[in-house]
Amino acid sequence: MTIRQALTRDQITAIVGRLDAVEAPGQLLPVAVRAVSDALLAHDGPSAHPLPAGQQLHLRGFAIPARQWEAITAAVTSRAAAWGIAVELALELINVLPGTYEDPDAPIPDLPRPDHRPDQLQVQLSRDAVDVIAAVRHHLQTLASYYGPQSAQHLAAATSWLSCLSQVLTMTFGPSVRVVRDGTLSLLMHTSSGFTFAAIFHGDARRCTAGDGCTALIADDGTAHAPFTTAAVADHQHRPSFALDAPRPGTWSLHS
Ligand SMILES: [Zn+2]
Repeated sequence: MTIRQALTRDQITAIVGRLDAVEAPGQLLPVAVRAVSDALLAHDGPSAHPLPAGQQLHLRGFAIPARQWEAITAAVTSRAAAWGIAVELALELINVLPGTYEDPDAPIPDLPRPDHRPDQLQVQLSRDAVDVIAAVRHHLQTLASYYGPQSAQHLAAATSWLSCLSQVLTMTFGPSVRVVRDGTLSLLMHTSSGFTFAAIFHGDARRCTAGDGCTALIADDGTAHAPFTTAAVADHQHRPSFALDAPRPGTWSLHS
């Protein structure tokens, strides 16, 4: 049986205040649990006593109005932005905070949210990462001149590269990111919050388009082979989906 309990505006304000005052990333989740426990059990204010074992489970027996839950999680993720751990905390919060129920009239404080993000995003590019970026630029220019600037090949590659770059240039994962080479056209990002992800170029496979149910893949030297052992390879003159000497179409995507 879940106990439905709305918090007061003052209680939410107190919870948000305690979250804003957290000084270390590892404290954020325990303080959130403690502050919500105190409010639900009507023991407002910081306590010198550590959370008794099992009390965290106690929170799961409660449900609070959804908009109050959102105000609390917004305060946690806003504070977490200082360390670039908002994404991982958001998932953990669901496990430790009370459940929710809809109550559109539940009070929430109308507080200006302080911006806890660092003043600057520091991006450090290794020399070979700079070489990758130059190589990508060259590849995109080659696609544009071979297939045309408005071609699907050029647009798909260029927009996917731009999308990856924009996602590297965010503060989601902390105040700094180190970018290194991860292949001729691919980059690896190490964030200050300890997260690693890659922007990887996936070149299109050169398929046979001659028909006859042929599924052959054609290598750079023109030889055809079956993509898997039982795949059909027709006995005909294969027609490659792009020429052997053409720049390889493809797209970039992010991988964690
Ligand atoms: Zn074929």
